[in-house]
Amino acid sequence: MSAIKPEIDLGNRQLKNKVLLTLSVVILCSCFATGFHNISIGEPSTKWVAASQFSLGTFFAYTSVSLLLGRGKAWFNCSIVYAYIGLIIFAVIIFGIEKSVSMWFFSVPVVSYFIFSRYHGFAISMLVLVLFVYLRIDYNLYEAAKAWNNTLINIVLPYGIIVALANAYEKVRLQNEWKLSEFALTDPLTRCYNRLALKSIYPSLQYAQQHVAILLVDIDNFKLVNDCYGHEAGDQVLKALSGLFLEVLGEKHVFRIGGEEFLLVLEGEAENCMVLAENIRNRVQTMGFCYGNENIPLTFSGGYSPITEDSALTNALKSVDDALYKAKSNGRNNIVYL
Ligand code: GH3
Ligand code: MG
Ligand code: MG
Repeated sequence: MSAIKPEIDLGNRQLKNKVLLTLSVVILCSCFATGFHNISIGEPSTKWVAASQFSLGTFFAYTSVSLLLGRGKAWFNCSIVYAYIGLIIFAVIIFGIEKSVSMWFFSVPVVSYFIFSRYHGFAISMLVLVLFVYLRIDYNLYEAAKAWNNTLINIVLPYGIIVALANAYEKVRLQNEWKLSEFALTDPLTRCYNRLALKSIYPSLQYAQQHVAILLVDIDNFKLVNDCYGHEAGDQVLKALSGLFLEVLGEKHVFRIGGEEFLLVLEGEAENCMVLAENIRNRVQTMGFCYGNENIPLTFSGGYSPITEDSALTNALKSVDDALYKAKSNGRNNIVYL
């Protein structure tokens, strides 16, 4: 199955890009500033250090420009956050753990939880805490007992609070994102995906490695169901039909894109897809629908079209809509294949 799970960006991706861009620019500026400083010293050994700082700076100029142009890549996450942590460690080693520059360590949990997954964020935060405590104790080696107290109270406690809050915040944020996505992408009546979800997964259908076709389904004379048996009966019909579609095709292949219109995604050999489309039409025709003591006959008309890389969503929908119109003109309860 090539279909992927639909998703929606609730602004988190943009915010992540902004944070990564800011960090990337900070690293870039630090690399060039320290590079120029080392050049100004004028000794051969510092020139080599400066050369490596300029190379690193150039790399982060590339990541910054890419992020600015919205062309960030997944591997930027690790490169930028690890370089940021490396920069803090470098500064602490140069200036000394006793200096306030070491306070930058406290930003690591917030940054790593935000950019990485929770487990990755936790692992990085803990590694940095161990290093932080180690450097601090090492500095106070000759006053070991005092150092332990200071370290535990002034580093481990606040750092632990930041990790716990970052963890709790990220957990709640992920749950909320999941719930909001669910609301945004799912039709509340039938529990099928909606048009927005179709838009999200459509590119994966366009570039699927196998034959994919779409079938636009429109229930015949549905208004009559509402008029004769009431709106509630109409709702039950929509649920029963979507239940059948979901049972045959699975949740990632059924989209309610209008009142009584569904878009079905069919995958496999071209001929098999057409046979499947006819099977579904036959099953609907024979399933009938009991509402109270009434048996409501159901049929649908359909417009069918294969998907190619060139078929943009709006064009594909227009094609199947035209085919559906022909199917209605042909007398309903039939599918027109393009
Ligand atoms: P045709 O065979 O030409 O498609 O005729 P039709 O009656 O199915 O088409 P028409 O577009 O005239 O009517 C569609 C009806 O679907 C009108 C609207 O009240 C009903 N409808 C749309 N959404 C819902 C819904 O969520 N629940 C119910 N019960 N009815 C709905
Ligand atoms: Mg309609
Ligand atoms: Mg209809």
